[in-house]
Amino acid sequence: MENEARPPRRGYKYWIVAGVCLLLTVAIVAGILFYNAQQSRQYTSATFAMDTMVTQSAYGPHAAQAMQQVNVALAEYENRLSMFKLHSDIVAINASAGGPGVEVAPETADLLRQAVLLSAQSKGAFAITIAPLTKAWGITGGNPHVPQQSEIEVLLPLVDDEAVQIDGNVVTLPEKGMAIDLGGIAKGAACAVAAEIYTDNKVESALLSIGGNIYVKGTKPDGSQYRIGFRDPTGPDGSYIASFCMEDSVIAVSGGYERFFEQDGKTYIHIINPQTGWPAESDIVSVGVLHADGAVADFYSTTLFVWGREGALQFMQNGGVAILLDDTGTLYVSESLRGSFKLNEGLEESYNVVFVPGG
Ligand code: AMP
Ligand code: MG
Repeated sequence: MENEARPPRRGYKYWIVAGVCLLLTVAIVAGILFYNAQQSRQYTSATFAMDTMVTQSAYGPHAAQAMQQVNVALAEYENRLSMFKLHSDIVAINASAGGPGVEVAPETADLLRQAVLLSAQSKGAFAITIAPLTKAWGITGGNPHVPQQSEIEVLLPLVDDEAVQIDGNVVTLPEKGMAIDLGGIAKGAACAVAAEIYTDNKVESALLSIGGNIYVKGTKPDGSQYRIGFRDPTGPDGSYIASFCMEDSVIAVSGGYERFFEQDGKTYIHIINPQTGWPAESDIVSVGVLHADGAVADFYSTTLFVWGREGALQFMQNGGVAILLDDTGTLYVSESLRGSFKLNEGLEESYNVVFVPGG
């Protein structure tokens, strides 16, 4: 007689284990789907800080909370560094110029140290001690007017970054009337504040814009890079002439179109030439500088604007990465951006694009 193959009888233990396994599998799959949905969900935020619009978009389960923290941190940062906020470190330093030094937050002392080191590389184009002149012109302070030449001449000797003394966290301005304005570097430097918060919150993909100075962290969740627009200086807000891709970097943009006033039919811009005390006369319309350190990017954007096209092109040939629009409609673009660079359709006749080897 043949043995009939009968399926083995399965005890209740088998069914319990199988059930638990099934439940675990369902839970894991659901978890993965939920995690992926969280990772690929984009959150956005918009606020006003540092006298400009601040917008963010970020991905990840903690993105909303991170952006909220960034908004709070930027408000604190501005309260600490603005020359217009009553209790800021900068107001305290400026108020005691010619007197004893002032103890400031370690972060303030660090940024001042970095700014002074950088401005030493600007050949006199960049100075955080430009404040007596920016105040006299009143462009950011809300009372714009052309000062007397005699007033400019009195103020010019007060512009001297080498004279700024930083001893630990104690900052001294040796001459009465000297003052600091971090407007040329602060927005870029603020990107590092945001970068730290994104990292702390495990946000791997984010884009932050502080008045057109843009920080990009990582790539989008699908692996594609963020595409950044280069603004049309003559067009309305939000219009772009070209775009390119960027990752883990800051682009700081300087241009006369950003802030200016008109008097007797003449236009006066917010970037002052520390040599003359007058608004910089540049053959650059707009220049964006890319760097992993936002403070460095911001320092160079202002510096290149004052240097003008020739100096800026040298910077690019020496390895600096930038996009520069000059007053003849030529758009100079660092070679390293060529791969992703796109001039907007229909603008081929209006702009002449030149790729610059070096950076
Ligand atoms: P940005 O938009 O980065 O070029 O910075 C311009 C701001 O920097 C101005 O609004 C002033 O607050 C300040 N600033 C103006 N001229 C200079 C200069 N030559 N060096 C450093 N900061 C400047
Ligand atoms: Mg700048």
